[in-house]
Amino acid sequence: MTAPRLEIDLDKIRHNSRTLVERLAGQGVSVTGVTKASLGSPEIAGAMIQSGVRALGDSRIENIEAMRRAQVAGPMILIRSPMLSQVPRVVASADISFNTELDVIEKLSSDARLQDRNHGIVLMVELGDLREGILPSNLEETVRQILRLPNIVLTGIGTNLACRSGVSPDAKNMSELSALTDSLESTFGLPIGMVSGGNSANLDWALSSAATGRINNLRLGEAIFLGRETLHRRPISGLHTDAVTIVAETIESKIKPSQPWGDIAQAAFESAPSATLDRGDISQAILALGRQEIDPLGLFPPPGVEILGASSDHLIVDPGPHQLRIGAEIAFQVNYSSLIRAMSSTFVTKEFLTQVD
Ligand SMILES: *Cc1c(COP(=O)(O)O)cnc(C)c1O
Repeated sequence: MTAPRLEIDLDKIRHNSRTLVERLAGQGVSVTGVTKASLGSPEIAGAMIQSGVRALGDSRIENIEAMRRAQVAGPMILIRSPMLSQVPRVVASADISFNTELDVIEKLSSDARLQDRNHGIVLMVELGDLREGILPSNLEETVRQILRLPNIVLTGIGTNLACRSGVSPDAKNMSELSALTDSLESTFGLPIGMVSGGNSANLDWALSSAATGRINNLRLGEAIFLGRETLHRRPISGLHTDAVTIVAETIESKIKPSQPWGDIAQAAFESAPSATLDRGDISQAILALGRQEIDPLGLFPPPGVEILGASSDHLIVDPGPHQLRIGAEIAFQVNYSSLIRAMSSTFVTKEFLTQVD
């Protein structure tokens, strides 16, 4: 088999997804399966749909188009504000998009009219993380503006926390979203269908005994792929943390000094390589895997193997007491940063360990 390759266990992904769907259903919360880490892979999207997610969400219209072409079933939501330049494609392929700008929603309206479709809008509200969102004080006015636009349906409101600034979802900001929902409903006399409280960082909050109020949806990516909540990256009980691994191949294996020699200046990716302890001669192996395929800080080697360094196309490891033979493969677990880079790299093949039935 060729390397480097991502090995993706669809049964484990299905299990993670189904477990989260079932636990959250007990709290009255549905799941939007977020596919962006997998570039809209139809295998992974299919596994999510089979496990009961209500809809699929992706930040890139290209991925939604790919899932449509592969005839993945289910509602599709663009979970990033559409680029004005892509609005016609968004109307054609996504049922719903997340929005914060009236200019974009007006264009969605006119293109939806041209295409003789309706387009759903989820208005994102800023609750402190300072990424996307309309300030709460401007929400009512924005709703007033969009209710007069033809071919636009106000599907819901949502918020996103813990992405830019690490602001934790908690009883306070989540009840603010609930209160905004109530207030919009009473002001405009219409039901707000979807109240989307956040991402994998909301799981601690949602699965604790706390009442979830009006929040009836979460958008989950990382927790499904990697089995962890994202505030502390703790494993979620009952979920697999090894559904995805990356396998790399050994191209050099030698005994070398642990210390470099010569006049030390900048290395390729570090302005000042940190000094390492002199351990005398060690076995050092090079794997054909680099920063163009992974984030070296987001690779977790098997026990006994230590990562010593990485450049754009070489990963240097100390394999421990045993020397690696040329051609030997090593499998690493990945964090989200390595996962998205590997998925996006054309040098990494994607192997599905089980097929969608
Ligand atoms: C990526 C993203 C998600 C999913 O986040 P995870 O941490 O992977 O669960 C949810 N909502 C928005 C708006 C996103 O961009």
